[in-house]
Amino acid sequence: MKFNTKLIHAGISEDQTTGAVSIPIYRASTFHQKRVGGQPQWEYSRSGNPTRAAVEKLIADLEEGTAGFAFSSGSAAIHAVLSAFSAGDHIIVGNDVYGGTFRLINQVLKRFGLTFTTVDMQDLEQVEQAINEHTVAIYFETPTNPLLKITDIKTVTTLAKAHNIKTIVDNTFATPYNQTPLTLGADVVVHSATKYLGGHSDLVAGLAVTNDEELAQQIGFLQNSIGAVLGPDDSWLLQRGIKTLGARMRVHHENTAAIVDLLKQDSHVAKVYYPGDPDFSGYDVAKKQMTHFGAMISFELQDGLDPKQFVEQLHFIDLAESLGGIESLIEIPAVMTHGSIPRDVRLASGIKDELIRLSVGIEDEEDLVEDVQQSLNQL
Ligand SMILES: *Cc1c(COP(=O)(O)O)cnc(C)c1O
Repeated sequence: MKFNTKLIHAGISEDQTTGAVSIPIYRASTFHQKRVGGQPQWEYSRSGNPTRAAVEKLIADLEEGTAGFAFSSGSAAIHAVLSAFSAGDHIIVGNDVYGGTFRLINQVLKRFGLTFTTVDMQDLEQVEQAINEHTVAIYFETPTNPLLKITDIKTVTTLAKAHNIKTIVDNTFATPYNQTPLTLGADVVVHSATKYLGGHSDLVAGLAVTNDEELAQQIGFLQNSIGAVLGPDDSWLLQRGIKTLGARMRVHHENTAAIVDLLKQDSHVAKVYYPGDPDFSGYDVAKKQMTHFGAMISFELQDGLDPKQFVEQLHFIDLAESLGGIESLIEIPAVMTHGSIPRDVRLASGIKDELIRLSVGIEDEEDLVEDVQQSLNQL
């Protein structure tokens, strides 16, 4: 089955009892048991729910894993996966992961005795030097947010395997439409399904997928023990969103190509960050491990031009945080999504005050190009 067919037919695409082509929303919290101790398939909805199971099986198939788990947010998915480790364990983390992941690590997990080293994932030597006898995992995103840096997944997982270390990849920006880290040697993939997988800016959800039997057991145990499961209504909405991922991504990519062309030609723009741009530093690795390059673009205006003026002059590209929805969303990381990072730390990681991040939606290409152009022309 090819990917777009999988989106529609993989997982559990029909109700097992009625044949309904849309999985019903099983709102029941508990299930009738025929006899005591009979180990029924369904007993209590935190432990397992048929609507949630359908989306869990679907994401497992799409990411080429063996087990999928759905959570109430991406952050909950990341928390559950990292809870598989114990006090004293050491985890290497990419230095430009999602801000909420940083907060989870620094303000929550460290209190439970996990230790972390942040490294530049583009520098394999730095990654290798960070490995010590307690290192159990390497955690990173590719492409990253908002600089869209690319990490060579295969190279990192090869290094990790040589040291008997697990690799966890946050695949939110790429989605399995563009990249499947498990096929490149990763052990776990996590998602904020709030973004492209849900796809309509109307849902907060998270997913984790693995192809490692022991990790699958642990993540399932932690999902049930910590309990931040995705409810049946949201599980249904997420499955519906995922089914149109391919159709949406094709338009996202077309529109993105048009806007990258415009930004690269326009004299108001100083620098464009896009993994599909042959001039971009991560292009060669991106080309090797991704089928397309996603629909996130970051860029900087020429010195002296005001990024706030640019984003406020747009007519229908929405000024908002988040990404991956059908509507185009634009923001200034320094004062919005990454505003909580101290300025010197942020600048050191390359996120300038004037950086603009654009999540390209699926509106008509002509309208998006015209909107960006009219705002640039007014600067
Ligand atoms: C949004 C996001 C998260 C957190 O997901 P929530 O669903 O908001 O909890 C994690 N990683 C990345 C890359 C994200 O963009």
